[in-house]
Amino acid sequence: MNRINRRDFLRLAGGSTLAAGAFGFPGLLLAGTRKVVVVGGGVGGCTAAKYLRKLDPTVDVTLVETKPHYTSCFMSNEVLSGDRTLESITFSYAELQSKYGVNVIIDSAIAIDPVAKEVRTAGGTRLPYDACIVSPGVDFKWETIEGYDAAVAEAIPHAWFAGPQTTTLRNQLLAMPDGGKVVIVAPPNPYKCPPGPYERASQIAMYCKHHKPRSKILILDPKTKFSKAGLFKQGWEQHYGFETDHSMIEWVGKDQGGTVSALDAAAKTVKAEAGDFQADVINIIPPQKAGRIAFVADLVDGDWCPVDKRTFESKRHADIYVLGDASSAAKMPKSAYAANSQAKVAVAAILARFAGEQPGEPTYVNTCYSIIAEEHGISVAAVYRLSEDGEQIASIEGSGGLSPMDASAEHRKREVTYAHSWFENVIDDMMR
Ligand SMILES: Cc1cc2nc3c(=O)[nH]c(=O)nc-3n(C[C@H](O)[C@H](O)[C@H](O)COP(=O)(O)OP(=O)(O)OC[C@H]3O[C@@H](n4cnc5c(N)ncnc54)[C@H](O)[C@@H]3O)c2cc1C
Repeated sequence: MNRINRRDFLRLAGGSTLAAGAFGFPGLLLAGTRKVVVVGGGVGGCTAAKYLRKLDPTVDVTLVETKPHYTSCFMSNEVLSGDRTLESITFSYAELQSKYGVNVIIDSAIAIDPVAKEVRTAGGTRLPYDACIVSPGVDFKWETIEGYDAAVAEAIPHAWFAGPQTTTLRNQLLAMPDGGKVVIVAPPNPYKCPPGPYERASQIAMYCKHHKPRSKILILDPKTKFSKAGLFKQGWEQHYGFETDHSMIEWVGKDQGGTVSALDAAAKTVKAEAGDFQADVINIIPPQKAGRIAFVADLVDGDWCPVDKRTFESKRHADIYVLGDASSAAKMPKSAYAANSQAKVAVAAILARFAGEQPGEPTYVNTCYSIIAEEHGISVAAVYRLSEDGEQIASIEGSGGLSPMDASAEHRKREVTYAHSWFENVIDDMMR
């Protein structure tokens, strides 16, 4: 049996050591057989399942995931430019089973009973737990844009879950004539991947610049500002003529009437405060809320799941931990790196609890890259700790920051390489 001490944990935690750097792990192996059921095999769920087993192989870990493979949303915008395939962002759960001994069940969790401490699946399996981790990602608030629902989205894709709709959107771009118009409808805050819609516009522009240079991309946005806006706009000026007569990308924010209320799918027209906009390709990213199981299991307050930010334990039900996009983890963004970091904090807290210890003082990390053009990457990074009242995850001053506005071309090019290696590292850390 492997004994894992604090130093080992820091080494094993790799790229995100800071996420749990302040925890102690006394006596991890004292607990005997404990059962942890993880709902959702995305970034938060896989990272948690893997690290639980890695840090304490005596814990029995079962991961319940609806889909047989994980297709990452991160880097899926590159599928739209044609820079990568959907296969290159699709991964198997095999190593979680074979290398780490996680029991992977392909099924959907349909109920979590916090009293019986049991997860029930659509396939009829009952899974008892000592701790349950829930990382189901987001769901859409379909009722918010008239004329847009899950059925319409098959033809007018959101592509906000990477998969078949990403291919649909790519095919629509391929079929669009030169001089065609793309409309992207951005969501209100909070939503998964704050810079995602703007990276998407950049990646579509990258494709159009080479293949359909007379085309236009219009972003309709219900917000007055967006993540990394200064850096995006600078990159758009440099590569896509932003704010000139020949601009390929146009951004219409809330103050200019960018809020969209309806879609006429047959006429391929969206209705915004600024007027009606007809397009060849429409991509609507709807407003968001926590994944469905979080509502079914009574884990939400409003749209998201309140958690004790020291441990990620639900504030609504004991012994259930909610991670990633579904959790209310302000001021961390809803990102892959954040979910990965939060998973380590929750794992540390659960193992401390199993060992009869108090959770330690966590720190958390986020890094997020966006690729604006072939050789132009930008990023934002932060290290966070709990505010004194324990209510906020606050960034530590001077700990990260944005790519500089005056970075050299070489720096921008290097950030593309960093983005691609970040991607490999996150996938490795999750499930390989
Ligand atoms: C276009 C795009 C680009 C992005 N780019 C980046 C980026 O560059 N960097 C970054 O850090 N983040 C990025 N993100 C955000 C990132 O993908 C998410 O923040 C991250 O995946 C959140 O992890 P999670 O575990 O909360 O949810 P997810 O990774 O979405 O995983 C949730 C999983 O739970 C499963 N599930 C849900 N309900 C059930 C149930 N009842 N039973 C069983 N399984 C269930 C789902 O099938 C899914 O596999 C991007 C997102 C998008 C859309």
